[in-house]
Amino acid sequence: MSPLLSHVIQFECIEFKSGVWCSKEAELVKDKRVVTLFLFVEVERVSTGCEPLDTLLNGGVEKGVISNFYGESGSGKTNVCIQVSAKVAENGGKVAYIDSEASFSPERFMQIANEDALDNIFLKDVTDFEQQDETIEGLENLVEDEGIDLIVVDSLVSLYRLKVNGDNAQEVNQELSQQLSTLSGIARNHNLPVLITNQVYTSFDEDGLELVGRDVPKYWSKCLVKLSQNDKNVRKARIAKHRSLPEGKEVLFEITDEGLVKSSDSGLF
Ligand code: ATP
Ligand code: MG
Repeated sequence: MSPLLSHVIQFECIEFKSGVWCSKEAELVKDKRVVTLFLFVEVERVSTGCEPLDTLLNGGVEKGVISNFYGESGSGKTNVCIQVSAKVAENGGKVAYIDSEASFSPERFMQIANEDALDNIFLKDVTDFEQQDETIEGLENLVEDEGIDLIVVDSLVSLYRLKVNGDNAQEVNQELSQQLSTLSGIARNHNLPVLITNQVYTSFDEDGLELVGRDVPKYWSKCLVKLSQNDKNVRKARIAKHRSLPEGKEVLFEITDEGLVKSSDSGLF
């Protein structure tokens, strides 16, 4: 893969001091200059094992950031998690899989991957938001001890939704934000992809749907993909936010026994 221009950082008034670039207050610098640094960093991606999703994401889910697949019930969020996990595990990678809805089905996994690959899945069921907190706090140790290659949280917000109410919204939002901050830190520090799923609720926004947790998961997710389903069981994946891809790019896929495959049936959405 060719190197991508991932960051263009412009510092105003920069001074080079003992090998370190330091930004300084404008008025403190006599020789005022504008220096633009181009950092060429190769963005690594992990294949989803689903051709249309890889096409959508230019090769797969990005390492180092949180990717969030959101959509209504039945839109295919869990299937995406199992599909990507199956692909990583079959290639010998290890997956930390946090399941807050008892949705992970070994049977479904083995429809897509071989039985041996299941050994590479570190599955943790969580049943309340505090347990989810603790599990996410302990993830870094697991990542270091086991050499985890992918983290999945399906769903990030179902237990949040059970806990949040009119009186505790601020506190519970902070907890959610802290979980996402921890996940984001692990993604960055260990250069691995974090895949989360997000439920939605009806709103009066543009497309009538809003993410549970609203701005908190939106802020922390550097890739947001909206999943939807039509009456012919065709799924659509659409980029809602991405660091380097245009909003609105979309692909169609179908859920089959073998996994998620290309669909040519556009149908009605
Ligand atoms: P929720 O929000 O309720 O968790 P979800 O977005 O996670 O929903 P999934 O569980 O990924 O949705 O998708 C469920 C759909 O996948 C169902 O419509 C089911 O029929 C379909 N499905 C599951 N296994 C297969 C299979 N082997 N072949 C075809 N369709 C399947
Ligand atoms: Mg699900």
